[in-house]
Amino acid sequence: MSDPLGIRLDSCAALVTGSARGIGAGIAVRLAALGARLFVADVLEAPARTVVEAIRERGGRADFLALDVADESSWQEAADAVRAAEGALDILVNNAGIYLAKPTAETALGDFQRIVSVNLAGVFLGTKHCLDLLIEGGGRRSGGASIVNLSSAAGLIGSRVAPVYSMTKGGVRLLTKSHALEFARRGIRVNSVHPGLIDTEMGAEALRGRSPEGDREQLERAREAASRGHPIGRLGTASDIAGAVAFLASDAAAFVTGIELPVDGGVTAQ
Ligand code: NAD
Repeated sequence: MSDPLGIRLDSCAALVTGSARGIGAGIAVRLAALGARLFVADVLEAPARTVVEAIRERGGRADFLALDVADESSWQEAADAVRAAEGALDILVNNAGIYLAKPTAETALGDFQRIVSVNLAGVFLGTKHCLDLLIEGGGRRSGGASIVNLSSAAGLIGSRVAPVYSMTKGGVRLLTKSHALEFARRGIRVNSVHPGLIDTEMGAEALRGRSPEGDREQLERAREAASRGHPIGRLGTASDIAGAVAFLASDAAAFVTGIELPVDGGVTAQ
């Protein structure tokens, strides 16, 4: 596949968490099309296997990994599987995430702990357990290994409707910068991507959070308002995010580490 970025990722092994659908699936398919061998990691097995098949049908290399990013033993098993298959990892995309649009007064401590365990602990655990594999991978590439963490526009500015989600994504932003500094001399670059509202199941959930009555008309109005709220005038797509991730994962970004890259149609420029 010829990519508009002119990037190739041949001989790279990449693990994308939460890649059974949505943004993660878009990223996995794009990285595989650029030559990377993919580990499609998710708690949802059937849709993840569909992504694996789609990659293989296009001549790419992919395998499913059962992974719950919030569970440390699950990460240990995933890292062992990558070690056995490839011996190293060049690209880790910490994409898996969950959403929570609840007013603070209605948010149970259990809700808070659950979203922290997936959105924040998931990134920490993935980085921790893939570290040796990434050091190994970084040593064989001129641009080093690359970790890309999915934050959000809501990780750059606060959210009235999803305060705890926004907090987790703000945490991902600073964990990214800290890891960039910590691993800069060990051949690993670490950057975060901050999507605006993207047309996925989570995007639909976010729109439902903005239309409490939930009827079709109100949802459509919320969608139009959200599109207008993005200066470019539309919602984003998984493909919009995949292009940015492919750049950060590639040697074209060899001197790029610790950045926060909004891919949000201009939302956070306002
Ligand atoms: P999505 O809900 O459509 O897909 C999320 C995927 O993550 C699913 O396949 C799900 O099974 C998986 N997942 C959830 N919990 C998991 C766990 N514990 N272990 C492993 N996998 C798990 O969401 P999306 O829209 O594709 O979002 C992907 C990332 O982008 C998330 O981190 C999200 O916060 C971020 N993001 C999304 C938007 C948006 O508007 N869609 C905006 C900004 C940021």
